[in-house]
Amino acid sequence: MIIVLKSGATEEQIQHIVDKTKKMGLKANISRGVERTVIGLIGPEDVLRVTPLEVFPGVEKVIPVLAPYRLVSREFKKENTVVKVSKQVSVGGRKIVVMAGPCSVESAKGMRDIARKVKQAGATVLRGGAFKPRTSPYDFQGLGEEGLKYLQEAGRAHDLATITEVMDPRHLELVCKYTDIIQIGARNMQNFSLLNEVGRIKKPVMLKRGISATVKEWLMSAEYILSNGNFEVILCERGIRTFETATRNTLDINAVPLVKQLSHLPIIVDPSHGTGVRELVGSIAKAGIAAGCDGLMIEVHENPEEALSDGPQSLNPKDFSAVMKDLEKVAGAVSRTIL
Ligand code: PEP
Ligand code: MN
Repeated sequence: MIIVLKSGATEEQIQHIVDKTKKMGLKANISRGVERTVIGLIGPEDVLRVTPLEVFPGVEKVIPVLAPYRLVSREFKKENTVVKVSKQVSVGGRKIVVMAGPCSVESAKGMRDIARKVKQAGATVLRGGAFKPRTSPYDFQGLGEEGLKYLQEAGRAHDLATITEVMDPRHLELVCKYTDIIQIGARNMQNFSLLNEVGRIKKPVMLKRGISATVKEWLMSAEYILSNGNFEVILCERGIRTFETATRNTLDINAVPLVKQLSHLPIIVDPSHGTGVRELVGSIAKAGIAAGCDGLMIEVHENPEEALSDGPQSLNPKDFSAVMKDLEKVAGAVSRTIL
């Protein structure tokens, strides 16, 4: 249930509604927009059938929410959410934010070198996995805390914000200590205890779409995070599993404008995992921008042939730089910037 307040509604009237609904066992989330304040109610809504909220002072209308997600929905918040990551980096504004770096953090020097190069090319967030979700237990699993340190050092040295994946709620505190954005990987999109935990932190979370998740399931997962109090959520379309085997995944470009319609949250595109093929990364990144994404996550490695994970989809720094220049033109065509 969403309560839309009159444009002149007072703080007292808002508080009155919050107090009343709390007594009914509902949790009120307030969204203060430019034109209107909206209150989203969560909990057993049956009680509202007998209490006509329309008659409360300051209320303009009460809208039942048809979508199963509430706080994530456009109905709850009309304006786009802009997630502030650091002084320089915000996701969801006019500038398309590029997160780049290796799939896995491999060494201190490797991280420093790649940080310098992706920064030079125009990226503003440095990526690198320290806890890797590998299909085989025998593959490289990441450097753990050591990797987090290398990522942080390299980010600081080159004034880049950082992002890394957390797979286990027991590692959340540690990962938060070192990085600016917490990544929830595709395989953990429905790890509800992890979602609840990242919902309680005060740091931006990037939620990747699950390998076989529908858009609705994905938005429901985001709802878990918001319903715990953390509204700083960035969605990431990273391709889904289809019958097609020629590419690693099928990037669902439809999801970009669709999510923009359904939700106020920013959405970014990951053309690296979305294709699994280095030669396709630039084109799909362009498609993402044209479709309206707010950012990109691109894997870049000094020497992709020697990468410990995801080499075939990683760009070398030179190709990444060329792709970035190309992307600026597409960004300009849709009234955005990237560099
Ligand atoms: C990654 O970003 O390296 C990663 C493992 O991504 P995903 O969860 O999308 O597979
Ligand atoms: Mn990867």
